[in-house]
Amino acid sequence: MKECLSVKQNNLTCRYTKCRGCGKRILLGRSKFCPDCFKLDARFEIENIPAKARKGFWAYLHKYGLRCCFSGVSLEVDNDTSPWYLVFCRVNPGDKTKIVPASALFAVMKGRLLKKEFRYYVLALDDHRKKHLRVKKIPLVHWQGLGPGDNICAGCGHAAALKGRKYCVRCARLNVRMKCARFPREAILGVWDYLRKYGFVCYYTGMPLDLDDFESPWYLVFDHWIPRDPRKIVITSSLLNIMKSDLTEEEFWYFISQLANFYRKGSVVRKRKLAYWCRPY
Ligand SMILES: [Zn+2]
Ligand SMILES: [Zn+2]
Repeated sequence: MKECLSVKQNNLTCRYTKCRGCGKRILLGRSKFCPDCFKLDARFEIENIPAKARKGFWAYLHKYGLRCCFSGVSLEVDNDTSPWYLVFCRVNPGDKTKIVPASALFAVMKGRLLKKEFRYYVLALDDHRKKHLRVKKIPLVHWQGLGPGDNICAGCGHAAALKGRKYCVRCARLNVRMKCARFPREAILGVWDYLRKYGFVCYYTGMPLDLDDFESPWYLVFDHWIPRDPRKIVITSSLLNIMKSDLTEEEFWYFISQLANFYRKGSVVRKRKLAYWCRPY
């Protein structure tokens, strides 16, 4: 320690480098990390964090320092009984490749919610408490709990897979439907990717979809994102699927906006040349 200080005071002879973790300036020495990041790096090993996740984690630290990603509070790395102890928090529950630092307390409070869902419920609860507003429910992407020993569904990535099967109940049915429709592999992978990220919600509107009642206007259907092009399939409701017809996404919103203005203000609906419309009527 004494030695370090004398080096610091004598600026001419001291050499600095940057911590490989947080990027703070440290004395050139044996370690690539500052004392805090050194401990975090050791925990990566113990907790078996993949390289991709580590990289993202350090990038976060570079930018924000040792701060909780849900609250901005400063974090501790030594006292693991503190509510402000830094824990590695998965951005998407079940996905090991993306982690951020969080305080032990807020990581527990967040549970299996996504960050934006947590934020939504924090604000809704606060409004409920202070302004007596009703807490409006929103669909949760990762809610269905997993028991110990359950395999995660290879489709949606959060529900438990059926015993000895690859998919959960809902995804097993979707898988059959996609196979029957003979969608190409890339399109099917795209649907699973989407489900893992957003859950069973409409691609165009974000509204929750019905998977059981196929007579419902909100029944989940597959939609060609570009009319008749099988390469990209998105999920939407029966209703939206019919309304979108042979329009591209952009054309669809254009006409919704034109019609809305017509109904609200009586303005003229401007026609446009359509890219894929070729229906004999
Ligand atoms: Zn550091
Ligand atoms: Zn599933």
